[in-house]
Amino acid sequence: MALQSRLFRNDHKLEAAAVSDPAHIVPNARGLHVGKIQIALIHVDGAVINGRELQSAAYGASTARAVFAFKQKRNIINRSYQTKPDNIVGKMTIAELDREILALEPLSGRTQIQPLGRAQNLSISSGARVSASPFVAFKIGADQGFQGGPQIIVPKGASISPFLLTLIAGQPQNFNVINGKGGVVGCMDNDIAIVSDPSEPLAHGGTMSVSRDRQVFSIAGRATGTTAIVATDKSRTGFGDMLTVSVQAAPQLVTIAFHFLGGPPEVASNRNKNSVAAAVATMNNIYQGQASITFQIAGIDSSPLVIPELQNRALHLLQRELSSDWKAVTKRRSANAHLNVFFAGKIFVEDVFPLRGRPIALSSNPRTRQFVSRDTIIQDDLRGVELGVLLAHEAGHTLGEDDNEVADDLMNGSAPGRIITRAAARRLNEQAAIL
Ligand SMILES: [Zn+2]
Repeated sequence: MALQSRLFRNDHKLEAAAVSDPAHIVPNARGLHVGKIQIALIHVDGAVINGRELQSAAYGASTARAVFAFKQKRNIINRSYQTKPDNIVGKMTIAELDREILALEPLSGRTQIQPLGRAQNLSISSGARVSASPFVAFKIGADQGFQGGPQIIVPKGASISPFLLTLIAGQPQNFNVINGKGGVVGCMDNDIAIVSDPSEPLAHGGTMSVSRDRQVFSIAGRATGTTAIVATDKSRTGFGDMLTVSVQAAPQLVTIAFHFLGGPPEVASNRNKNSVAAAVATMNNIYQGQASITFQIAGIDSSPLVIPELQNRALHLLQRELSSDWKAVTKRRSANAHLNVFFAGKIFVEDVFPLRGRPIALSSNPRTRQFVSRDTIIQDDLRGVELGVLLAHEAGHTLGEDDNEVADDLMNGSAPGRIITRAAARRLNEQAAIL
C-alpha cells in the first residue's frame, strides 16, 4: 500500500522502501528521504538527533540510534531472519512511521466540531486543557450497545479545537459536527454537560450517532465545571475532534443597602462610610469567579439611623432574630435591596441558643425557623477580620449557608477565608437566583 502521510507520500525512495526489501534505508544514507525519517522520528518519538546529521540529512549514529529505539519500543522485528530489532528502515518500519505521522497530521476533510454562537477563540499557548485522565482515553458508545467499546484514544499531540465553548447552566447551545457521518459525538463528562440531537426532542442525550456530514447537535450544561465534546473520525483512529466546554452558573446580581446606626455610644457605629465600596469590591473578588454572583451597592444611608426603641436603654441588646431589638433595627431595611446590612457600635447577644464566643456579626438565614428577611448586623470591632471578607461570609449566611470549620473556607465560622467550594457555589447561586 502506498504511503499515506503528507510527509512521506510520493517520495520515491521512501515509497520504494515501503514495498521492496533491497530498497530499505540504512546507516550512512543521505538525502531528503533521510531528513523526512528524522523529522518523523522527532515528532512521533521525541527523538534526539545530532544537529550536523539533521543539517546534512545524514543517517549517522544518532539517527541510527533513534531508528533502533523506535523499532525496539514497537517490537518491530522481521522474524524471518532476526530475533532483535536493528537500526534499518525497512518495510515494517516505514509503514509504522507513516501510520504514526499520519495520525499527527491535520486531515483535510477530517471531522470537526464547530461551535455555533458564542465561543471564545483561544491562542495555542493558552489552549484550554481538560483534566488529565479523560484526555488520554475516552470510552464512548456505551449507550449504543457496544460491547466494552470502542474507545476513542486522543492521540498525543492531537490537534484540539482552538475554541472554548462557554455554557451557562440551563442554557443549551448548538454546535456543528462536520464530516462526521458514521461516527459518534458525546461529552466526556455527562454530569457536567450532555449532548443531544435538537431534531429529536424526546432524545435523552448522551453519546449520539452522527448520520449526516453536516449535523447540528445541542449541548446543555448541567453542573459547573470543565469538560469536552469529542467526536469520532469515521476513517481514522477513532478520534476526530475535541472542543473544550466550560459550564458556568448563570450570573446573579445581588444588591445591598448599607445603614449606619446612630444613638447612644454603644449602639452608634463609628465605621467610615467610605470603607464600604472597597469591602464590596472584596466581596465581588471572592464571589464573581467562584460563584458567578455580583454584589452591587443599592444604597448607603448617609445620615445615622437612630432607632427610637434603643434610645434610653441601660443595656443595649441587639439580640438575634425575632427579638424586639433585632426587629426594631431590621424593620428599617430598604425594600429595594436584596440584602440589608446595619453597622452598629457593639452587638450584645443574649440568645436562646448557646453561642460560643461573642459574635461580631449576626445574620438571618433563610433555612432557619426564625428567618424573617435577609438582614445582617455588624459591629465596629471586627477582631481582625477584614470587612469585605466578613461581609462575604455574612452574605453567605443570608444566601443559606451555615458555618463550617474548614480552613480557608468562606463559611469558616471563626476565621472566614476566601474559598467557595463548587457545591457551595451551586447552592449560593441558586439562592441568589430566587431572591
Ligand atoms: Zn458565620
